[in-house]
Amino acid sequence: MGKTEKYDHMKLIRQYAGGHKHLITLGRFLAAISAVMTLIPYYLMWKIIRVAVNGENLGSITAYAIVAVALIVGALLVYIAALLCTHISAFRVQANMRCSLMRRIITLPLGVFDEDGTGKIRRIVNDSTAATETYIAHTLADKTVAAITPVGLLVLVFAFNWKIGLICMIPAVIGFCCMMSMMGKNMQQKMKEYQDALETMSSEATEYVRGVPVVKTFGQTVHSFKRFKDCIDGYGKWTTEYTLMLRFPMMGFMTCINAIFVFLVIASYIFTRNGVDNATILNIMYYIIITPLVTVALTKIAYSGEAEMNLIDALKRVDKIMEIEPLGEGNSNERPTDFGIEVKNVSYRYKDATRNALDNVSFSIKQGEHVALVGPSGSGKTTMAELLVRFFDVAEGEICIGGVNVKDMPSSYLMEQVSFVFQDSRLIKKSILENVRMGKPDATEDEVLEALKKAQCMDIIEKLPDGVNTVIGEKGTYLSGGEQQRITIARAVLKDAPILILDEATAFADPDNETKVQAAFDEMSKDKTLIMIAHRLSTVKNADKIFVMDDGKCVESGKHDELIAANGLYKRMFEEYSKSVEWKVGA
Ligand code: ADP
Repeated sequence: MGKTEKYDHMKLIRQYAGGHKHLITLGRFLAAISAVMTLIPYYLMWKIIRVAVNGENLGSITAYAIVAVALIVGALLVYIAALLCTHISAFRVQANMRCSLMRRIITLPLGVFDEDGTGKIRRIVNDSTAATETYIAHTLADKTVAAITPVGLLVLVFAFNWKIGLICMIPAVIGFCCMMSMMGKNMQQKMKEYQDALETMSSEATEYVRGVPVVKTFGQTVHSFKRFKDCIDGYGKWTTEYTLMLRFPMMGFMTCINAIFVFLVIASYIFTRNGVDNATILNIMYYIIITPLVTVALTKIAYSGEAEMNLIDALKRVDKIMEIEPLGEGNSNERPTDFGIEVKNVSYRYKDATRNALDNVSFSIKQGEHVALVGPSGSGKTTMAELLVRFFDVAEGEICIGGVNVKDMPSSYLMEQVSFVFQDSRLIKKSILENVRMGKPDATEDEVLEALKKAQCMDIIEKLPDGVNTVIGEKGTYLSGGEQQRITIARAVLKDAPILILDEATAFADPDNETKVQAAFDEMSKDKTLIMIAHRLSTVKNADKIFVMDDGKCVESGKHDELIAANGLYKRMFEEYSKSVEWKVGA
């Protein structure tokens, strides 16, 4: 954002408030009335002091005091009413923001969740909307009071003895200048950096906690999590620099707003040097009472300015999600003639990447064929599989299923035709039955059990206390990675889609699990078009076709024997693989 560009946060807030936007205005109006009501008793106090100093009509003191107390109680009640209005509208804004975000998130390409990380998105949905709620509910009323009070104070301060008033205002003006200089120091950018640092630390901390078992098993320390440590160090460095940058203006601000009293002493000395009269005593006493209000008002202005910057940062984060283009919804009525797949000259580059993850890739798969994507890590296998189910849309080229471009199909139709089981498939905190039933919401319990059987899950079910009705994650019921993958396979079996994409498991060292996962894969892929991202080359020998990826390109394709005979990358990879297997067996 350029320096001159003004971010209209209130306009955005009013949009989210919808019908409740008038409550925000009413809340601010009531807060302003409350601020004025709070100031009037100070004038009455001046009158009380005058009566006391001059010793005239002492009975009127009671009347002034009653009115002052009534005004203060009234101001308090009006302020409570203001807070009520701002709270109701704040809750509405937060709810509307979260609903809009959730509606938008559901339309976003699935790949966005890989790129931006679910942790970051969750933080925006929870924390940024909560920051907006706090600002509207609390800060907005305070900010109105902070804006009204100085004006009223100026009137009060200059009304009685403008010379004393002027002297008292000197530190207030210097304090205000110090505050403005702090605000001017690219503060909005600093707030963004601060929030970014918190965001990074929070996601790295999550990674760290997830990795604690590895850390403990291998006797490592926090230093093994270099990124986590780096971001903590970075945060420490940033806060130190930030604090040092602000130390002089902050010292100036705090000293000045708390030094008004000193200036009052100086003013008193100057004006009482040549004798004291009742009027001077009256004014000095009055200023002793009123000047602390200036300190409070300036502090409120400073804090509401900071809260406003936090709010703008939160709103911009929300905007960032709202601005992500949803995937265009295909609306062609044309349906695939079969479930063969054609990838034509496909290229794709991730956001902010410097080179293509896929570069002009073409291949075709016939209906019912079992193919494998192999290649070194980072060669583009996962990206290829993800493009097929529109995690993202291809930048160039096209992917067709049965002659129809996947972009032209309604997304719900495409999802019905493809099942995918990725390595990090997660289960949700519901019963196993419900987890599997997600593959086919109207499935009967028998159908679910049949799918679990085909996916080799019966041993898992048998050992759980409530069988298929056991809720995962509750009462210490957790499944191993391999077991979780078998449950997700059962989900895919139940869905029974004609095209299957499988990311072969490598992460699970337990051989029993591996055999079962493999058997489940074999069972579910019968009569289906299967694309398998293969990590262990032993499992691809029988594939109808193997596509060898390297550096975003499809460099070889054919059956195992053909590729060995071609003496290229596949053969080299296969030899390496065979050696590593022999080494393991030997070991
Ligand atoms: P493979 O599955 O063969 O290991 P990938 O398809 O995951 O390879 O990655 C292909 C290339 O794209 C790699 O260079 C990888 O670093 C990059 N890449 C993968 N995912 C992302 C992402 N979310 N953002 C940026 N680059 C990515």
